Amino acid sequence: MTCAARKILIIGGGFSGMSAAIELCKQGVAVDLVEIDPGWRSYGAGISLGGATFRAFRQLGILDEFMRQGHAADGLEILRPDGAPIGMLPTPRIAGADVPGGGAIMRPVLARILADATRASGASVRLGCTFTAIEQDAEGVEVSFTDGSRGRYDLVIGADGLYSKVREGVFPAAPKPRYSGQAVWRAVLPRPAEVTTAMMWMGPKVKPGVNPVSATEMYMFITEHRPVNERVDPQDFPRLMSALLEGFSAPLLRAIRESLDERSQIVFRPLEGLLMPQPWHHGRVVLIGDTVHATTPHLASGACIGIEDAVVLAEELGRGGHVEEALQAFQRRRWERCRMVVENSARLGEIEMAGGDKEEHARIMRASMMALAAPV
Ligand SMILES: Cc1cc2nc3c(=O)[nH]c(=O)nc-3n(C[C@H](O)[C@H](O)[C@H](O)COP(=O)(O)OP(=O)(O)OC[C@H]3O[C@@H](n4cnc5c(N)ncnc54)[C@H](O)[C@@H]3O)c2cc1C
Repeated sequence: MTCAARKILIIGGGFSGMSAAIELCKQGVAVDLVEIDPGWRSYGAGISLGGATFRAFRQLGILDEFMRQGHAADGLEILRPDGAPIGMLPTPRIAGADVPGGGAIMRPVLARILADATRASGASVRLGCTFTAIEQDAEGVEVSFTDGSRGRYDLVIGADGLYSKVREGVFPAAPKPRYSGQAVWRAVLPRPAEVTTAMMWMGPKVKPGVNPVSATEMYMFITEHRPVNERVDPQDFPRLMSALLEGFSAPLLRAIRESLDERSQIVFRPLEGLLMPQPWHHGRVVLIGDTVHATTPHLASGACIGIEDAVVLAEELGRGGHVEEALQAFQRRRWERCRMVVENSARLGEIEMAGGDKEEHARIMRASMMALAAPV
């Protein structure tokens, strides 16, 4: 079957854009990818992943590399502030009986695995480059680039993230990212032997968690209610993060708290969300990943749904037929799942900020995990 589009431009080389390049090259498509960052860097601490993400990694062909460089384990251990165990939240083995249901990896490590796979796929990657104009007619899209070149494509994929310039240009009426009222603190730490899977301590207001990212390291995450989204001076990071651990007498948390100082690798990030209403395409320009569905990390599934977008879009284009039909089929398969992740994550954040119903929180977590296990 011939792909519905033979020459495709991807704008943005994050997890979603790189995954689209890998999957489309498998269909024999000529793929150009432009990434604005000349260093193709990825920032941040660890990233937590679930079984559905591992299923997508298997499709991309990077699961073995993830297993070598990241960490996978079953279950989320729930504990009281003093460290007494409450129970284990199961994480379903979605990627197969041989692959644990959860895990984590350092963000730059995952980005490098995907970048290597993108280059190996045959996609033409241009770094430090972006578009200056996109003009489309019925048969194709003309794109001008910052390096002075021009190209004509059957399809353009906007994968340039939450503050997408493609979305701004092609969908001027699209909603803007919205601050959620929460921010997240993350720190990369040495991994003690007792930390073998994700763990979370249920404080009355904050719920610190840790997740191993490799054989030797783990990352800690703490979500905080901050009604006003204001800048925080990095010099204050260790003190503010330590303060959030006050009141937790669990020995592991006490030890972490004592270890935090100005040398600690701490990342602070206000959480924003965006769900763009359908359609996610206009003519021959389609948006994927955070450009259309940026979620808060409460279900650890933002990267997952962006990567799945790439897999499903390539599958639909690979059926042949007209580009418009493929884009409509893509939208039908993606909308409900992505809406569920964004809205359920936002609801979990609201419950946490209000100190609300723990039963509802647990119910939403369980229902979301079940929904994520469904085929895409
Ligand atoms: C604090 C935080 C914690 C998170 N934790 C998790 C987690 O634990 N698990 C999880 O699954 N998800 C998590 N997420 C969500 C996840 O990080 C995102 O959903 C995912 O990175 C989206 O990937 P993307 O490729 O769609 O967009 P991005 O990662 O934003 O990539 C966009 C790319 O486009 C490039 N670009 C931007 N503008 C242009 C332009 N004009 N031209 C060309 N290139 C451009 C950028 O440089 C970047 O490389 C978290 C998000 C946040 C904010």
